[in-house]
Formats: sequence, structure tokens, C-alpha cells
Amino acid sequence: MKKIITATLMSASLVSSAAVYAVQEAALISVQEICARDAIECSRTDAGIVVGRPGTTNPYADGLNAAAKRFERFFGRTAPKAAVVLGEIEDADIRTSLLEAYPVVLPWLTIKDREAMVASGVRAQVRQQYPDMDEATFEAVVARSVQASLNASGGAGHEGGGAAADVHQGVYAHELGHLFFIRTFWPEENMNVVNTRPEDVMRYAGPGPDWLDEMAAVLMENQALTEGRETGLITLANEDDFSGLWPLNDYFGMTHPAFEQARAIIEARQNTAEGRAKGNVVILQRGQLDTRADGRDSAMFYSQSRGFADYLIEKTGNEQIFTDIATHIAAGASMESWLREFGVGYGLQVSVQALEADFHHWLEGRYGGMSDPSHGHS
Ligand SMILES: [Zn+2]
Repeated sequence: MKKIITATLMSASLVSSAAVYAVQEAALISVQEICARDAIECSRTDAGIVVGRPGTTNPYADGLNAAAKRFERFFGRTAPKAAVVLGEIEDADIRTSLLEAYPVVLPWLTIKDREAMVASGVRAQVRQQYPDMDEATFEAVVARSVQASLNASGGAGHEGGGAAADVHQGVYAHELGHLFFIRTFWPEENMNVVNTRPEDVMRYAGPGPDWLDEMAAVLMENQALTEGRETGLITLANEDDFSGLWPLNDYFGMTHPAFEQARAIIEARQNTAEGRAKGNVVILQRGQLDTRADGRDSAMFYSQSRGFADYLIEKTGNEQIFTDIATHIAAGASMESWLREFGVGYGLQVSVQALEADFHHWLEGRYGGMSDPSHGHS
């Protein structure tokens, strides 16, 4: 089975307008009150809290802790406290109150949420297509289609559930990474990915460059996702053709390649309560990505981020090199000026052009001749 490349996007609206909107919608309640409610379970950890239905929160609390530890490893700072609100909790007052109580709030769809969502879509579709089908056949067709759809998207599945659950946890850490990163380096930036007004979504993620935001998220990922990212790099290295990557000159300043697509999806979601409960987190599989005018694959942006992260870490011998870069950029400077000021000290090429040539050469050495890690697995 080919590993899935999960392109995860997050668009966030500025809190200034979103907060006004949220307060109008619901009165604030304390976290204690939230957790005392019937049919609410809270898992508290050092890294924050997970709010969901009874029996669902523990794996996400473990995942939150793991992501916070990883953030500390690569960024040398304690991750901002996070509240994760699972998709089954749609109460506006809970979601809004968590935004007041925690610097980071992530709305998250569990595997069960995703199963239910897929199932309701499939039911409607099968019913429409075969209105006269008998009940037993109908249920069997629905079950089969739901399973196929979940297996294809890494969402869950009773077959191959292990790999799917790993991908699910990897994507979860990825999203937390974006939010940790933004709140750490731009603490005044009060990100709100819970309450959505598509007209407020002006940019892909935080105020920093999109490549660096994505890099922070990719650094949080687990092996299940990393293998998918590396698949793209292996293909390029084996063909000795890196035109599928964005030139670093563009990469350092570009808008995320899937930003417009993500924004359109968030806009379309506003039509249903189910859609609104998803917040601003958009998860796409490789096959769902729009093709681009420049011929590049948006999924390659993630592979490039993986490759560039590993390249810089290895070249500088500093696992926390992105802390230096992010601090420099958050102070209003650029990657280009960081290279000019600090590149030599770290043993890096100072010009973007020379850095790019060295980067491609490194990719060639690291991935050339390797076979695709997603082959041979079942
Ligand atoms: Zn991302």
C-alpha cells in the first residue's frame, strides 16, 4: 500500500475581529465548569487539556504531551499551554471559553468523528443512487464504501488501522506545531482557528513566512508522516531533477501553495453545522490537491520542508537552528539577511543561489539511489 501524503493546512483569522464575533455568540464559562458537565471528559496534562466525550481524550492527551516535548526539543522553549477540543464537542460556549483560557486552542476531529462524517455522506449518496435497494444490501454497500474511503484517507479503518492511527497522530502533532510556533515567536498574535469567518482568513498561518511555519509543523511529525514526505524527495533525487521543488528564492517568500484551496474549503464549510465544527483546520490527501499553474505538486512543499529542515540541521549540527532563524525573522528580518549575518558562522553558503546548489547536492547524496520507503510495506 502506498503511504499517504497528507497535506495539512491551517488558516487562521486574527483574533481582534474573531473575538468580538465569538463573545457575541456565547457567554464565557470556566474550565472547571466545562469539565464538570455531563458527558464531558477532560484529560489534563502538563502541556494542557483535551476536552471530549468520555473515553475519547486519553490518546490525544498523550499526543499533546509528545508534541509539546518535540517542540521543546527543536525550539528550546516550553510549548504554550494548549486546549484541544474534540470534534464531537460542538458547544459554542465551551469552544469560546477555551479560547479565553488557553493561548493555543485546536479543534480536532477524532477518527470516530471522521468515520461518522464519511458514513453520513456515503449513506446519502448510496440512497440516492440505489433508492430501491433492500436494507441488508444497503448496509453492506455502505459499510464497504465507508471502509474503502477511510482506508484511502488514513482516517481510520479496521483493516490497516495501525498505520492509519499513526498518520492521524502525526497530523495532530503537525497542527499543534503550527500553533505552538506562532504563539511562541509572535506571542501577541492571538490565533483563533476555532470560530471561523472566511472573510477574516487573510493568510495561510501565522505572521511569519509560510515556509518557516510549515517547517515548524513538519518538525513535529512522526515517522508515519515523515516517510510520506521523503517519498517525494527520493523520486526527485533518483531522477536527478529538482525542478519539482520551489527555487529557494521563491520558497522563502511565497504564499503556501494550497492556501487558496484551503480558504475555499473553509468557506464552503460554513453552510453546515458539521462543517463549522471543524474550525479552520483543513486536511487534504495528495489526490485531492488542486493542480497548479507552475506544474508543481502542493504536496512537494511539505517534502521540500522536510528536506530543507534535515539539510540545515545536519549542515549546522544544531537541532535548534530554526529557533535562531525564527527569532531573527520574528524581529522583522528575513532568511536572506540571516544567511548573510550568520551563515558563515554555521558553515552555510551565504548566497541563496549557492545554498540552493548545496541543498540539491545534499539531497542527491542522501536520497539518490534509495528505494521508495512506501513500497514493500503492506
Ligand atoms: Zn501545515
